[in-house]
Amino acid sequence: MQYPYMQFMHTLVMSEMIWKCFRCNLSFKDDKLAEMHKEISDHSITKVKTIVA
Ligand SMILES: [Zn+2]
Repeated sequence: MQYPYMQFMHTLVMSEMIWKCFRCNLSFKDDKLAEMHKEISDHSITKVKTIVA
């Protein structure tokens, strides 16, 4: 059964975690940028999984 393993690896490559501000509809790949935005704007940011083409 190699197929499930391959699919798991594929998912790892195709997706990444980003920070998202739903108030501004902005997304941040960098933890520091997300933290900065949070401090400056006092918005709550959420870590979400995104699919990268
Ligand atoms: Zn914001």
